[in-house]
Amino acid sequence: MTLQSNPSAEIWFFTGSQSLYGDETLRQVAEQSQEVVRTLNLAGAIPVKIIWKPVLKTPEAIKQICLEASSNQNCIGVITWMHTFSPSKMWIGGLINLSKPLLHLHTQANAQLPWDSIDMDFMNLNQAAHGDREHGHIQSRINNGRKIVVGHFADPVVINRIANWVRAAIGWDTSQTLKMARFGDNMRSVAVTDGDKTSAQMRFGFSVEAYGINDLAAEISQVTEAEIDDLVLEYLQTYDVVESLQPKGDLHHSLRYAASIEIGMRKFLTRGGFSAFTTNFEDLGSLRQLPGLAVQRLMADGYGFGGEGDWKTSALLRIVKSMSVGLPGGTSFMEDYTYHFGPGEPKVLGAHMLEVCPSITTGKAKCEIHPLGIGGKEDPVRLVFAATPAPGMVISLTDLGERFRLIANEIEIVESDQPLPKLPVAHAVWKPLPSLSTSAECWIYAGGSHHTVLTTAVGAEVLRDFAEIAGVELLSIGVKTDPIEFRKEVRWNASYFKLSSGV
Ligand code: MN
Repeated sequence: MTLQSNPSAEIWFFTGSQSLYGDETLRQVAEQSQEVVRTLNLAGAIPVKIIWKPVLKTPEAIKQICLEASSNQNCIGVITWMHTFSPSKMWIGGLINLSKPLLHLHTQANAQLPWDSIDMDFMNLNQAAHGDREHGHIQSRINNGRKIVVGHFADPVVINRIANWVRAAIGWDTSQTLKMARFGDNMRSVAVTDGDKTSAQMRFGFSVEAYGINDLAAEISQVTEAEIDDLVLEYLQTYDVVESLQPKGDLHHSLRYAASIEIGMRKFLTRGGFSAFTTNFEDLGSLRQLPGLAVQRLMADGYGFGGEGDWKTSALLRIVKSMSVGLPGGTSFMEDYTYHFGPGEPKVLGAHMLEVCPSITTGKAKCEIHPLGIGGKEDPVRLVFAATPAPGMVISLTDLGERFRLIANEIEIVESDQPLPKLPVAHAVWKPLPSLSTSAECWIYAGGSHHTVLTTAVGAEVLRDFAEIAGVELLSIGVKTDPIEFRKEVRWNASYFKLSSGV
């Protein structure tokens, strides 16, 4: 993935205390909180550097650092820890001005209680057990969508939970700066891919800009033969290219045209600072092929994409890709296409007309050309492969009119029961958890889209943390889901979100 989010991102670490402890205790608070930060940074699991900040002892200092964090472009989140008792009224002025994600780390310097040596000095220093409860009280009242992580800071479970939140914070930061280019509008009459782009920008930060498809076609027409030569060579070296598309094949011109689409798209997106885009097969203007190979390769580089003008899925794809930085596995645009109800375990066959990201396979993709039944254009070039078996998740972002909803389903990507020799598109076969019947029943009750983001890189906790930061409902379907309870949750959540949104 070459499209990075902010490479200078930082997490700031705030240690709370107060002046009455005296210099000696405060010196130890500073040393020990620096040790916490050092340990977290050295663990290697957290993808962003954590920056220690001097111990906070006064309301003025707390407000000042929260204002700085809110305005600093590189600070994507803050971690708070009350090593000693830091009266929480001191934090009100700061916390109500803090606009960055917050994780409350409830830890202490010592893992073990020193049973035989503990004295009042030790008790005076190690007070997180009550200091963090005082802190949590004001956090609860301010209700800022924070994450609480409890345990010793060197415990890998604790570090992993922090890392997951940091990934969610990366996604949130990505969303704030994300610009999307839509080539054309939505597929006609489709409901779920439509929505309110202004509300989305107010909630998530990303902006969605429309362009005529011929703006892109003009860019493509400027691509030179030499640029095409270079990219075609890369295709020939990277993929198993079918004979008809090879330099001596009768359809080689189609591969060259596909290359020109990729080059033109990259130029258009780079010049405009876009990290996501959509296309619509109903509106291809003077393009001769539906973009397939180009879209697949741009996704592999980290771009968000949605078919049929689906800007919500495109934004979500870019966000999830940014959250997965450095992790194994991949993330792709996906569509629930068709089912296998049996014999054997029921499964979903997921694919799209063309646009599935090769990051979800570890195999070598084939580069092929086949007719496309819809769209009325020339046969499009595409990469064909099967997703590598792995546990994963499919995610949908829907617009309910008055608010947004995330829906996620845990899945298990599996080998297909039998070879699929005539399937001309990249695809994934998966078992949804807990079963196809419960998964689909709950998904459909929840109003989830047929378009999803499929990821084998990012886990459920990261998405939960992201939803919390965004203040958006997340309905999770997984191994423990019961359809009756799920339906109640949907109804209860509807009440909560109506009440919590104010009047
Ligand atoms: Mn579609």
